[in-house]
Amino acid sequence: MIEYSPVTEKIKEAIRQKIGLDSIIDAPEKLAEYASDASKIQYLPELVVCAKSVGDIQALMELANIHRFPVTPRGGGSGLAGGCLPSLGGVVLLTGGLNRIKSIDHKNFIMKVEPGVISQQVREAADAAGLFYPPDPAGMDLSTIGGNAATDAGGPACVKYGTTRDYILGLEAVLPDGRLISTGVQTRKGVVGYDLTNLLVGSEGTLGIITSLTLKLLAKPAATKGMMCVFNDMVAAMNCVAAIMSQGYLPSAIEFLDHKCLALVGEMLPFALPGVKPSILIIEVDGPQSQVTEEIAAICSIAQAEAAIEVIQADNAEERAKIWAVRRQVSLRIHEYAKLYISEDIVVPLSAIAELVDALPFYEQKYGIEVFAFGHAGDGNIHLNITTQDPDKEGLAREGTRDLLELTLRLQGTISGEHGIGIAKARYLSMELSENSIELQRDIKKLFDPNLVLNPGKIFPER
Ligand SMILES: Cc1cc2nc3c(=O)[nH]c(=O)nc-3n(C[C@H](O)[C@H](O)[C@H](O)COP(=O)(O)OP(=O)(O)OC[C@H]3O[C@@H](n4cnc5c(N)ncnc54)[C@H](O)[C@@H]3O)c2cc1C
Repeated sequence: MIEYSPVTEKIKEAIRQKIGLDSIIDAPEKLAEYASDASKIQYLPELVVCAKSVGDIQALMELANIHRFPVTPRGGGSGLAGGCLPSLGGVVLLTGGLNRIKSIDHKNFIMKVEPGVISQQVREAADAAGLFYPPDPAGMDLSTIGGNAATDAGGPACVKYGTTRDYILGLEAVLPDGRLISTGVQTRKGVVGYDLTNLLVGSEGTLGIITSLTLKLLAKPAATKGMMCVFNDMVAAMNCVAAIMSQGYLPSAIEFLDHKCLALVGEMLPFALPGVKPSILIIEVDGPQSQVTEEIAAICSIAQAEAAIEVIQADNAEERAKIWAVRRQVSLRIHEYAKLYISEDIVVPLSAIAELVDALPFYEQKYGIEVFAFGHAGDGNIHLNITTQDPDKEGLAREGTRDLLELTLRLQGTISGEHGIGIAKARYLSMELSENSIELQRDIKKLFDPNLVLNPGKIFPER
């Protein structure tokens, strides 16, 4: 274990001199605002620094190496794995002050942004320019584009458009020792040297602090239509997903909710819930108008052939918003319902989704937990919300979580599809990665950050 220095008055003074008095937060009640993220894990920072320029970040990292205190980058604080929390103490670095959309290049379909821009504003700016930035993480009104890049955020649109990574052509980052690097290209392709862009993307703020991003944009789809299909059970719903995809249709979203989630939002549904374990699919298609009309009609027919008992179409933005409100409300209601709640975002092969969801009652009974499953049926990403009403049974809930992750791996899946490892899942890393793989990754971390001052204590389990 590395010994870090506490952030002493002398260090604070050095930071004040380099970065400025008004960039520093050290009042205890203000520090508490940065002690948690959406994971609800708690670690109080010793100091918070609000960067206003790349130079501020460089100066801070230089001081961190001289005095050996940890620095943890924080964007919107919407992460679900505790990645932006100072688990080994030190300074939390806010990137929200670097929040300019620097340029939009219509001819080349490129947008340049600073890391602190709220993700939704990136989408809106592209839209206002008649272009399209596809990644749509559900928390995009809270998260920053820098945080999305650091976690390689996904969302419903992944099934057709991929994750944040697929829209980052290049970036600039301050390395842990304070040097600034520029990676990647401004073009659609480029293979010069190792792909440092893709090493930094998804590295959860452990290899560098992203200070600028060059994003790839697409032409805006002319039309979008949606639908909600209701099935008697999950097997029927997943058979429908397989049929849609094997017939060559690629919706821009295929989300599912299991029967337990549906029970929480029953009054929002425009139909009575059928059967014992009903399940719904929310499907969206986008593209040229004529193609969308043809695709939605074809998907409707497929759903009916696959035993959908209700198919509700949403032709305009208002009707689509009502369908998505159901999906969004589920997360909130799970939070309200459960006294203790563990959020996992596993991915399994499409053919294994129904098997995994059908196995949940066994684990619920074995560990005295309730598991609510919803997520991205089109790419196998299942949000498992593992809950108990008895906070004293946290240990049992965690055992159940581990067992469910083991099942995921037996089904050839992965333990995190988009939320990242952070602190929350570091204990499970060796379940999926070999010792050699973890050692190599620790070596990469040391190469970037020999003094382990940038976001230490994340991803890798403590030795
Ligand atoms: C309601 C809700 C819905 C969500 N839905 C989704 C979803 O659909 N898909 C999904 O993928 N996630 C989702 N999330 C999780 C979260 O929004 C994402 O992980 C998001 O990318 C985090 O961005 P942030 O700016 O809030 O980052 P933070 O939480 O502040 O930080 C996350 C990680 O990124 C690092 N980081 C932040 N900024 C930088 C930077 N400039 N340079 C280097 N590292 C940096 C931090 O150190 C930390 O490790 C959801 C969260 C909530 C609360």
